[in-house]
Amino acid sequence: MIQNPIIPFIEGDGIGVDITPAMIKVVDSAVERVYENKRKIEWKEILAGEKAFQQTGEHLPQASLESLREHVVGIKGPLTTPVGGGIRSLNVTIRQILDLYSCVRPVRWYGSASPLKHPEQMDVVIFRENTEDVYAGVEYESESLEAKKIIALLKDLGVRDDQVCTDAAVGIKPISPGRTKRHVRKALRWAIAKGRRLATLMHKGNIMKFTEGAFMRWGYEVADEPEFKSKIQVNDRIADNMFQQLLTRTDEYDMIIAPNLNGDYISDAAAAGVGGLGMAPGANIGDGLAVFEATHGSAPKYAGLNKVNPSSLILSAAMMLEYLGWQEAADSIHKSLETTLAQRLGTYDLVRCWRNEGENNVKELSCSGFADALIGNNPY
Ligand code: NAD
Repeated sequence: MIQNPIIPFIEGDGIGVDITPAMIKVVDSAVERVYENKRKIEWKEILAGEKAFQQTGEHLPQASLESLREHVVGIKGPLTTPVGGGIRSLNVTIRQILDLYSCVRPVRWYGSASPLKHPEQMDVVIFRENTEDVYAGVEYESESLEAKKIIALLKDLGVRDDQVCTDAAVGIKPISPGRTKRHVRKALRWAIAKGRRLATLMHKGNIMKFTEGAFMRWGYEVADEPEFKSKIQVNDRIADNMFQQLLTRTDEYDMIIAPNLNGDYISDAAAAGVGGLGMAPGANIGDGLAVFEATHGSAPKYAGLNKVNPSSLILSAAMMLEYLGWQEAADSIHKSLETTLAQRLGTYDLVRCWRNEGENNVKELSCSGFADALIGNNPY
């Protein structure tokens, strides 16, 4: 096992300046305490997003991608994507170029206030396919030449005017057997290794029969392979039902395997049950490459205020420690988070939810103050 890995990190746009230093401080402290200087991460900053554009004129320099490839494991803060125009998502581009085909989002409760009656029942891992679906980025503006050509082709294929208007914008939703199956295999291997009992395929296959319906069918085909058969139970749920059942029958969900868009939506909804986006970690994993990142975005209105919750990125880093095999350091971070929340210490988002529930003996900390509290509460 490597004792001194070089880990490239992207600070991130917006609140990246707040949460990334907090994450590094908490991780360094946990590793130092747990392994008593026998292990240490060598952090290497790489550029992406607004900082990269200011310094190099590019939003995603090739050198940064090469560094992630070379060092195999990296971590990133959130990157801003303009809505309705401008650059395409750098987050999506990183996942596509490095073929980080599974996005892993564990959602569990650490002690925050929750709209759920039994938040302790929320312990679900969402495996979101990361490279296909409407996120492929193949879409054409209304009235563009490309959209008109595709619509003309569709009409040739017998598509009626009431199905697709002639001036429609067009987006393509590719879902393939190869990419679905490698994703489901990764998810089921992960589930078996972590002792999960049930995996649910989430789809909208009643309406999108040949894309999401096929996702379900290919998923079951993988579940039937000798490697998985009889080792883990697999069922499926239609996406809209899944949203309500995750709230009403929380303990029935252990792991959710979803195509890209469903996985994106359900992970934010699940996070809302355990303290919101500030508590939602994630990892993008391919074959031998992994980039860890919080589920939330760059929350520009809070940028630089030292106010937001760094837990998502810290928990993403704990996932990274687990991935490196440094389980004890990861566990110590989980424990310190539980202790800190039990003391009713939290950033504004956590404190607001506790107060809304009538708890007044709570204390608001800054982003860096919260990181210090976590360090103080590390059990080692
Ligand atoms: P967002 O996740 O940045 O913020 C939405 C709201 O969630 C915030 O206003 C805040 O109230 C809350 N929030 C988010 N992170 C928090 C934290 N750490 N602590 C406390 N509260 C937190 O979503 P948005 O406003 O829709 O997107 C802003 C930008 O981020 C967009 O450009 C979007 O494309 C981008 N984005 C990036 C990623 C990524 O880097 N992976 C993910 C989602 C969105």
